[in-house]
Amino acid sequence: MPRHQNTAAQRARQAQRETGGKYTAELRKAQAGSRPGPFTLGQLLTACGTAPDWTGEHPVVDPEWAPEMFDFASLGGPVPYSTVLLLLGLLAPTGRSTELELESRNGFHSLIVVCDGRRFEMVLSQDDYVTERCRVPGCELSPVSAHSIPYCAHQHLAKRSEDELVEMATAWGNAQREEFSARNPAAVPLGEEGDHLIAAAVAQCAFFPVQAALIASAYERPDMVDVVYFGEQAVEVQHAMDSEYFRLMRVSQAAHRRIQKLAGGRCACGAALQIVAGPKVPPQFCSAACAGVVGRR
Ligand SMILES: [Zn+2]
Ligand SMILES: [Zn+2]
Repeated sequence: MPRHQNTAAQRARQAQRETGGKYTAELRKAQAGSRPGPFTLGQLLTACGTAPDWTGEHPVVDPEWAPEMFDFASLGGPVPYSTVLLLLGLLAPTGRSTELELESRNGFHSLIVVCDGRRFEMVLSQDDYVTERCRVPGCELSPVSAHSIPYCAHQHLAKRSEDELVEMATAWGNAQREEFSARNPAAVPLGEEGDHLIAAAVAQCAFFPVQAALIASAYERPDMVDVVYFGEQAVEVQHAMDSEYFRLMRVSQAAHRRIQKLAGGRCACGAALQIVAGPKVPPQFCSAACAGVVGRR
């Protein structure tokens, strides 16, 4: 790495020496208005393997606990080697030309780096801590499932379209089936993650397709159960599918009631909300007409 490379961290250290200011405050100043551009996975890999140790004093943790770091301008300053290796591992199936970009950096505490829509938080004050975040920029919450349901349950999953929810439900069901069906194909759990998908589907008037996608992917398509399974096992799988069908129904009704309660039991037009106003009417509206009017505003 060229000796004269002028990263935000180096500028901050310089300013700290000259002004006696706090390192983190200077780093923040040095970074302001100069968000670095994208870089490739190959560049990060090379830097991790060849860059010299960063020799500055970690401003957040004591020297004995501070992680070993190297300076990487595109991530806004020093980053721990071990954390970068962990990130590279998480991105392993992607190629060296894959692009990454720094979304934000909070001094020496943490940063968010984005790759192909996925967002990773790297902690900068310790070794080995990378965690995937909800895919919506700026969101600090964890995804329901990093691989199959990459949005947070609290806010952003319920904003996805019907098609996306069906896709996520299929991916989640397949993953669960892969993990659990070898032992007993009638005991594949859809878990809390499945419930989150159903709640989001209710908000999008997409309950039936999402319910069907979950059950078909985790167990079997209803018309195929007798083809894929035999005798006792076919009966067991069919029974598991039926009980899951009714359980998800109850989850959807609870989600429905929760949304209506949040709306104070009334539609925007003032009418009292019904249990079910129609298959394509979101729970917080009294009719398709009301949902349409409010939706177009
Ligand atoms: Zn989110
Ligand atoms: Zn209304």
